[in-house]
Amino acid sequence: SRPFNFSAGPAMLPELVLRRAMDEMLDWHGSGMCVAEMSHRGKEFMSIAERAEADLRDLLAIPANYKVLFLQGGASSQFAMIPMNLLGRGNGADYLNTGSWSKKAIAEAKRFGPVHVAATTEASRFTRAPAQDELALRDEAAYVHYTPNETIEGVEFPYVPEVGDKPLVADMSSTILSRPIEVARFGLIYAGAQKNIGPAGLTIVIVREDLIGSPIAGAPTMFDYRTHADNDSMYNTPPTYAWYLAGLVFAWLKDLGGLQAMAEINERKAAALYAAIDESGFYANPVDPSARSWMNVPFTLADPDLDATFLTEAKAAGLLTLKGHRSVGGMRASIYNAMPEEGVRALITFMQDFERRYG
Ligand code: PLP
Repeated sequence: SRPFNFSAGPAMLPELVLRRAMDEMLDWHGSGMCVAEMSHRGKEFMSIAERAEADLRDLLAIPANYKVLFLQGGASSQFAMIPMNLLGRGNGADYLNTGSWSKKAIAEAKRFGPVHVAATTEASRFTRAPAQDELALRDEAAYVHYTPNETIEGVEFPYVPEVGDKPLVADMSSTILSRPIEVARFGLIYAGAQKNIGPAGLTIVIVREDLIGSPIAGAPTMFDYRTHADNDSMYNTPPTYAWYLAGLVFAWLKDLGGLQAMAEINERKAAALYAAIDESGFYANPVDPSARSWMNVPFTLADPDLDATFLTEAKAAGLLTLKGHRSVGGMRASIYNAMPEEGVRALITFMQDFERRYG
């Protein structure tokens, strides 16, 4: 009965999660408190925090030699925190430049040391992923950074880059939990929560223990992974309510059958939407089919003068926030985990009807 919200983030949350949060709002499990009112060091919140971490570890099968950190500052703070903590391990870092978010990560890393762009797809206007044999990786690199899913361009790597013994660092903000991954292939995974994890304000970092503990000189206490790893992410006040809601999302995912079950649903949703776009002469998606994102589907209308009408009518039909990112224009349907298949079907029906009337 609620409208379907295609926002890129903050994004839709599962209705069951919102209902559960509502039920628990005034009195969490007989504590007499809302979670937002609890001390982060009290036994009630500690149990919420531990449960959330255990469920996330379970969902992603995170090996025991990885720490899971629940931080603030967004993925954008990680653009700085990563070079601050890892650059000392080698001579500069290798970055793959595959879209707007990797560009931002590169710009920030350059403030801390040399950055080598080991591959770029800018010449194709970021409409594909580079192949493994296009990656000019250096032996002396401290780490290799890439963005598995570019939220703005809708480009997703169809493979995990092979980087030898160097730590692979991945900005998974818009793809984490959309499918199973092999965590051991990564040195560090980070994600802002506001797409597939929960509300904004929480940032998850999954980091191999041996990468913690040698930050650059002068790194602020809050920007040293050691600070958070040694204090169970409670060195200072963590984003408690966002952590709690993330825990409800993890429990929802487990009830659904875990990430394999989620991946099957996501694959079906994306396949249906891309097929509808490709079969029409009216809508277009510029991304190479091998690298099309399961989560973010940008598309254009044959006549951009119809964009405003499309958005107005979509909203009236209960399909919200379809406007594309200002840098690429057109439309973008973000279809994260919480978007039900029914929502994608409703979007496709609307698009086909719109094309019949205006195409
Ligand atoms: N990286 C990616 C891939 C994103 O999609 C976003 C936000 O949309 C960010 C980084 C920035 O995240 P934050 O706003 O949490 O700093």
